[in-house]
Amino acid sequence: MCFVCTTVAATLIISSQIVPVEAISAAPTTQLTLTSYAANAVPLSNRQKSEIESLVESHPAAEKFICTGIRLASAPASENVLVRKRAQAACDYAQKLNPKLATWFQNKPTSQRSFAGKVLITVKNSTTSTLPVTNPGSPSRSDLSTHPSITNQALLSPVEVCKTSDVSFRPDTSNGFPRPTTAKTGTVSARILLVPIIFSDLPYTDLDNLRLKTATDQVTEFYQKTSYGRVSISYEFLPKQYWITMSKSAAEYRLPENIPQYNKTFLVEDAFALADPSINFGLYDGVALTTGYSTRVNGGQGFPGVSFTTKNGIAKGVTLELGSAAANSEVMAHELGHSLFGLEDLYVFLNSNRPSVPEPVPAGSWDIMSSLGREFFGWNKLLMGWLEPYQVRCLSNQAASSHFIEAIETAGNKPKLVLINLSEGVTLAIEGRSQWTSGVLVYKIDSRINHGDGPIIAQKNLLSSGQQLTLDGWTIKVVAVDPSGFLVDVVKG
Ligand SMILES: [Zn+2]
Repeated sequence: MCFVCTTVAATLIISSQIVPVEAISAAPTTQLTLTSYAANAVPLSNRQKSEIESLVESHPAAEKFICTGIRLASAPASENVLVRKRAQAACDYAQKLNPKLATWFQNKPTSQRSFAGKVLITVKNSTTSTLPVTNPGSPSRSDLSTHPSITNQALLSPVEVCKTSDVSFRPDTSNGFPRPTTAKTGTVSARILLVPIIFSDLPYTDLDNLRLKTATDQVTEFYQKTSYGRVSISYEFLPKQYWITMSKSAAEYRLPENIPQYNKTFLVEDAFALADPSINFGLYDGVALTTGYSTRVNGGQGFPGVSFTTKNGIAKGVTLELGSAAANSEVMAHELGHSLFGLEDLYVFLNSNRPSVPEPVPAGSWDIMSSLGREFFGWNKLLMGWLEPYQVRCLSNQAASSHFIEAIETAGNKPKLVLINLSEGVTLAIEGRSQWTSGVLVYKIDSRINHGDGPIIAQKNLLSSGQQLTLDGWTIKVVAVDPSGFLVDVVKG
């Protein structure tokens, strides 16, 4: 399984200075940026090797691999030699894995520091390998994706019809299109500064720092995998001498009271005011403020669309993790869902005004913006720009249609999501799941429901082969399942 691929409809240009070596063709291309190299290393690390192995394995019919070593434009020209050697080693390894593969290596400058020193691999696919297959009876392909019953994409609605707006619009988080202006979409390389904060009654220790290093690695890996390689989160840890000692205690900030939805903007403002002026917060896409671990305090907060003026630069993409949520990679990933990507909370906010509801977690555990989720809904992946248009099959009024979808966790390039537009801002979604349990998941995105009131309602159980479900007048039936994915019929009325 390819776990760090990016499939794009045309060659992605990561910087105006990096251009494809050949003219952009109509053939879909896939791109992968290898994980960072250590110091002046040229040989591939085991992780980089496995990334290339996945890429080669998932593109058996690729026409060509182009390996580009990237140096910072302002770096000395001698850097060219290093990154060119890295590119050559990457392409050599790919060719060793698939001796039939044509390869080309080169070096290019970039103005984006986050790409400097890395190797970008561009895979040129054949023109037919990633397009939805509708040709019946192809003798050479036997998985469900070639099933003759699959409805031709031309008979479906344009994907724009299904990319509906959020009718309970908020400026900073949204469950629809267009995305908030501060939300990142598509290929994202984000630098996050990790800032420990110390209270007299809630210390931050070297052990906390070690725990954070593990957690941040997990967050980086989570986003890379769930975005099919589009999102690269890199954390930088503030050196110990710059850790921020707060002037008030955690108790004075009422942190041990663990008040639900307690806005802690003032605490963040106080922390920035106490930060050393040599720290330029403006250099970062995000700032993660974190306390030490404590079971007495809990909670995280993302600050989507909020900029904090500091003594040195504007801090944006800010998150705060407290106590037992500190060094919790799922909480950290959840808060980045707000602060970087403008996603809504999918669980129901309970507090003194609303102490209980019949269904506090209507989205179940299918999404990290809900409760205990370890993935994103296909809908959220669409919001974040991680699905290509041909991977979304949009219905609005079709009486009957048949669809192949591969599991949403799969970094393949087949369709992954069927959407049924019920009305503006209201959508039924169908996707395959395979990570912990296998089957077809059906859920409803109802943007008339606010952030914190449960805007996505998911089925509790996945549909297996032969099972069906009728929702809002649409019947969804899983016709067949094989290792490649799911064949689903959808009938209106
Ligand atoms: Zn949240």
